[in-house]
Amino acid sequence: MSFFAKLFSGGKASLPQASNPSDPHAWYLYVQCGKCGAPVAIRIDLRNDLSVDYETNGRYLRKEIMDSVCFQLMYAQVHFDSGGQVTSQTIERGKILDRAEYDAIKAAWDAPKNEK
Ligand SMILES: [Zn+2]
Repeated sequence: MSFFAKLFSGGKASLPQASNPSDPHAWYLYVQCGKCGAPVAIRIDLRNDLSVDYETNGRYLRKEIMDSVCFQLMYAQVHFDSGGQVTSQTIERGKILDRAEYDAIKAAWDAPKNEK
């Protein structure tokens, strides 16, 4: 396979599926700050924020995340296979959440403030 053919096949891997059909280029990463517990949703632009992983023909994401409460920096890494499925995700100084966990933590986090 030529160099250019390899490049081209790398570019044909499927991107992760958008989180919301009305925003087709966005994928959301949900995390919780390991210090203050704040839930954070990060919008990832599928066109600009992902890099090609030439070893797996998939994609990977490296993202610095700062929560808006204690301003701690977290470092997330997510790997996707060539079909756009998440194969591994790690984060330093925090925790990666799925959507349901994020919604539950966010509701609990917002509740006391709404009562004031
Ligand atoms: Zn925090």
